[in-house]
Amino acid sequence: MQENDCDVIIVGGGIAGCTSALLLARAGLSVILLERGAQAGSKNSSGGRIYTHTLSQILPDFAQSAPLERRVTQERLSMLTGDSMTTLDHRQTADAACSWTVLRARFDPWLMEQAQLAGAQCITDTQVEGLMKQGNRVTGVRIGDDQLTARAVILAEGANSLLAQRCLASPKPSAENMATGVKEVLALPREKLEERFGLEGDQGCAWLFAGQPTAGKVGGGFLYTHRDTLSLGVVCNLSQLSDSARSLPQMLDNFKQHPALRPLLKQAEVMEYSAHMIPEGGLNALAPLSGDGWLVAGDCAGFCLNAGHTVRGMDLAMMSAQAAAVTLIHAHRKSDFSAASLSLYREHLQRSALWPLMTQYRHLPADLLRSPQAFSRYPQLSADLLHSLFHVGEQPSVPLRRLLWRHARRAGLWQLLKDLRKGARSL
Ligand SMILES: Cc1cc2nc3c(=O)[nH]c(=O)nc-3n(C[C@H](O)[C@H](O)[C@H](O)COP(=O)(O)OP(=O)(O)OC[C@H]3O[C@@H](n4cnc5c(N)ncnc54)[C@H](O)[C@@H]3O)c2cc1C
Repeated sequence: MQENDCDVIIVGGGIAGCTSALLLARAGLSVILLERGAQAGSKNSSGGRIYTHTLSQILPDFAQSAPLERRVTQERLSMLTGDSMTTLDHRQTADAACSWTVLRARFDPWLMEQAQLAGAQCITDTQVEGLMKQGNRVTGVRIGDDQLTARAVILAEGANSLLAQRCLASPKPSAENMATGVKEVLALPREKLEERFGLEGDQGCAWLFAGQPTAGKVGGGFLYTHRDTLSLGVVCNLSQLSDSARSLPQMLDNFKQHPALRPLLKQAEVMEYSAHMIPEGGLNALAPLSGDGWLVAGDCAGFCLNAGHTVRGMDLAMMSAQAAAVTLIHAHRKSDFSAASLSLYREHLQRSALWPLMTQYRHLPADLLRSPQAFSRYPQLSADLLHSLFHVGEQPSVPLRRLLWRHARRAGLWQLLKDLRKGARSL
């Protein structure tokens, strides 16, 4: 029998790829991870906040060595119109925080280093161009004229996996199920940043916006504070961009000029600009997860969730990588990497916290696309309502119950009730 180059080849050195490499190498499997970027993270874009529940299971001492930026102690959600902002602002102690802001250009190389320390061989600057197959069985990867063979391959190449589409006949995700994001990293001296956002020590702010950033289209804006930089960006559903009067970069420029944001960004210098796809179709739009000799993890499989108040992709990538590693460790013990053996991946996912989460939000992507008013009319409604509430003139003020009734009727009472019902079901 022909000798394989290793037990498992992993395509992609992002969060899913590095996590599975670390766990498989730790279990004693021989692993080769291939990343097309000059270093891990160089091709990645992310808003910048990671929920650390799974990271702390895998690397309990992560806080001592990971290049973390700030612990998220401020959560803000804002609805923006062209000239107003309505914000929900929640502050918590550092002990209660469950997430950190990170810069992928620093975080991914660190995670790759952890995989290398565990024994994985990680090779950067190497793009996988195809999968090798014998019949339906995936037996390795092709890199230019070279070939590498393995008993199993994990595809962790991120959103819109070209290899899965080309070599495994995975369907191309529809525009409705994908979003695209643009992001800038802006430099701001640490003291200025802390003063402007009311932060001390390693406290950080995570801020999500709806309405003006996407000109009322389904999507939103985000801002995360790092040590002495900010991540600022806009994400918009791909199907909505085709009939949008503004391109995504124009949306970002406009967002930066909003009167509530402009003073916070004064003198901030652009250090990095990136654009990336995001799978947002949820549970109903997952890619085929496994087959003979292959598994798919992270964004590549569609494990990403934008629930409006939280954007989660990095922690879900880790959870799916964990389930993929457990499946392959089991397959290695049985010396069985067949489709039947690797189909256990779905069961491991279902047993993890990932599946209930995806199930909980399964209606959300479709419901959001059917409720564009949530991104256009409702920010205006809340701005009008609060303006009436806070405005004081010569006339006696209108009681709150009458204000609510008046604005609800103006927004369309029936539509409002339908959206509230839909929102309750989706969330
Ligand atoms: C603008 C934006 C904001 C976001 N904000 C957040 C956030 O705040 N929090 C959060 O949790 N998630 C966020 N996400 C989602 C998050 O970035 C992803 O869910 C996460 O990065 C998925 O990890 P992954 O390892 O599956 O894929 P990726 O991180 O995309 O990694 C895939 C890797 O594969 C490599 N690769 C691709 N093709 C090949 C090939 N053929 N050969 C070799 N290497 C290859 C790529 O270079 C890349 O390094 C955001 C995403 C975007 C775009």
